[in-house]
Amino acid sequence: MKSLLLWDIDGTLVNADGAGRRAMLLAMGDCFGAEVSYDGFEIAGCTDRQLLEWLLTRHNLVKSEKNFQKCSARYIELLKIEMGRGNIHTYDGVESILQTADRNPDTFQGLLTGNLSEAARVKLDCFDLNQYFAFGAYGEDSADRNALGPIALERARRTHNHDFEKQPERVFVIGDTIRDISCGQAIGASTIAVATGFHSRKKLAVCKPTILLDDFTQASEVFALLNGA
Ligand SMILES: [Mg+2]
Repeated sequence: MKSLLLWDIDGTLVNADGAGRRAMLLAMGDCFGAEVSYDGFEIAGCTDRQLLEWLLTRHNLVKSEKNFQKCSARYIELLKIEMGRGNIHTYDGVESILQTADRNPDTFQGLLTGNLSEAARVKLDCFDLNQYFAFGAYGEDSADRNALGPIALERARRTHNHDFEKQPERVFVIGDTIRDISCGQAIGASTIAVATGFHSRKKLAVCKPTILLDDFTQASEVFALLNGA
């Protein structure tokens, strides 16, 4: 029985200590001379495209593909610098659960993240975690996180020649925010919420994930779910 694990990054695998948020604000300043802030926007679980489009609109800049690309490119440059400045780390149990899943030939792992693909690579490269993910759906694919699930399933099919679109219950969407959970529910996947990141256990419980963990030292609960226990 094959399983597909689709992982969020920030707050789930990695604590980037605000590097992405700092880099995005600096990039807006460098590209447009704009003094920007996130006030009034719920960042947790949003996609980078969604955030950039919101920042452009809020600061009366043109929400064009050209401006998106320009700011994205500068953001990646600055992200590499900012990742070296903070107290970045992976969460407890993360490397162990990725390794264990990786050793099972019937378990595939991909990314389902709001990060731009290049930003995902930069963040995961700090911890040598890119090796676990052969494909992903990313923040440039859509502003709407719920649109990323079907894209991830399509890429899983192309990468592993297995059609999880017909077996959504064998797909496990893993993340730290209510947006991750609703994104998984939108494709009929099982959902694994982890309270290491941006949303509390109480807030995550409201959207009824399949299981809810404090952190990945509770990996046995994940594998029990995968094995149908
Ligand atoms: Mg997250």
